[in-house]
Amino acid sequence: MKTFQAYQHRPACFRDVAETQWNSWIWQQQNAVRNRFGLKKVFPSFPDEWLKMAEAWESKGFRFLITPYVAALVTKDEQENPLENEPVWRQVFPMFKDFSDNARPDEYSKADENWEIDEEMISPIAQHKYDNRVLVMTADACLGYCTYCFRSLQSNAQEERHGGRPHWAQTIGAIRQRPSVEEVILSGGDPLLFDNANVEEMLKDLRGIPHVKAIRIHTRAWLHNPYRIDENFCGLLKKYEVTEMGVHMIHPQEITKDFVDAVERVRAGGAKTLLLTDTPLIKGVNDSAEVLRELFMELYTSGVKPYYLSHNMPNIPAAAHQRTSVKRGLKLWNSLKRRISNTAMPEYIITAHSGKKTVPESEEGTPDFIYEQDQNGWPVIRFKNWKGDWAIYQDAQD
Ligand code: SF4
Repeated sequence: MKTFQAYQHRPACFRDVAETQWNSWIWQQQNAVRNRFGLKKVFPSFPDEWLKMAEAWESKGFRFLITPYVAALVTKDEQENPLENEPVWRQVFPMFKDFSDNARPDEYSKADENWEIDEEMISPIAQHKYDNRVLVMTADACLGYCTYCFRSLQSNAQEERHGGRPHWAQTIGAIRQRPSVEEVILSGGDPLLFDNANVEEMLKDLRGIPHVKAIRIHTRAWLHNPYRIDENFCGLLKKYEVTEMGVHMIHPQEITKDFVDAVERVRAGGAKTLLLTDTPLIKGVNDSAEVLRELFMELYTSGVKPYYLSHNMPNIPAAAHQRTSVKRGLKLWNSLKRRISNTAMPEYIITAHSGKKTVPESEEGTPDFIYEQDQNGWPVIRFKNWKGDWAIYQDAQD
């Protein structure tokens, strides 16, 4: 049983906050650090060098948002500053002296940031993927931002989309007209940025469409603000028979008592909702067999199924600092396969524009998953996608 409870480790500036207030997800969002000017309040001796990194990040239009919960979770030194290579800190703060290498084809670029395929868009916020699924980008913001995620950093989202709710009625109408849509994924940004009344409206609308059999909610509240998984929300999971919740966890340090309590609230609410994880593989954070092993076992024994190990996608900022090669990920995955229970093992995947693809176990590749180099010598993978078409994935150098 995990014993780390964030309230017991809260930063000094929150010393007088009552536990009931700390446990309020709204209080957590209201008291989050939202830009570099808020850092010294929570970390009084915050190094100037790190402030410069934050400034460089913000000057590119990238965001960060650190909740008090996450600030409590990171391991700190005697001055109450996060340790430099701290695995949670690295996910929420841009610890990159040189984070942009435009010569790398997998580095973030505004021109390539839009992964939406026009012919799959059935509304400004909904994409009909594969044969039977629709992905709805419910919000253009998150409960906290992850430095490795291109979606939260999409500049066009900030300028153009302004959140999904204005497009909701159109989205529901489009789903209603498509009987092939059996499954709807509420994604983001983070759908749990909305309050329970809004979430209930969305779930009610979806449950009003007979051909929608499965509803999934993908959130990173489990890390940024586990108090968001509150009793009322868990009641909605049961009432609207939400099929699955995505549990996006990266490092065993994230499995706190607060996290386990959130899992317990889902169970106590009586929902049959499956809890399935997606773990991006991030260089310097979890690209280690020991870390992955502990993570998968902790999740498994907490009643959460490790489902995907996702190779960190191309077109993210600081790609050089955050991406490993697929072969390195595969070596890690192979080193765990059969060493831990198969139930605790996720599927290792890459995500390309045209969809996900399982990485085959053979480190030499297979006839439909070929490791090669592009004309500039950059490692790429040529693979057959779910439609049987050839596609290219930008790999990374180690
Ligand atoms: S991983 Fe999820 S929560 Fe994190 S920035 Fe991306 S969309 Fe937001």
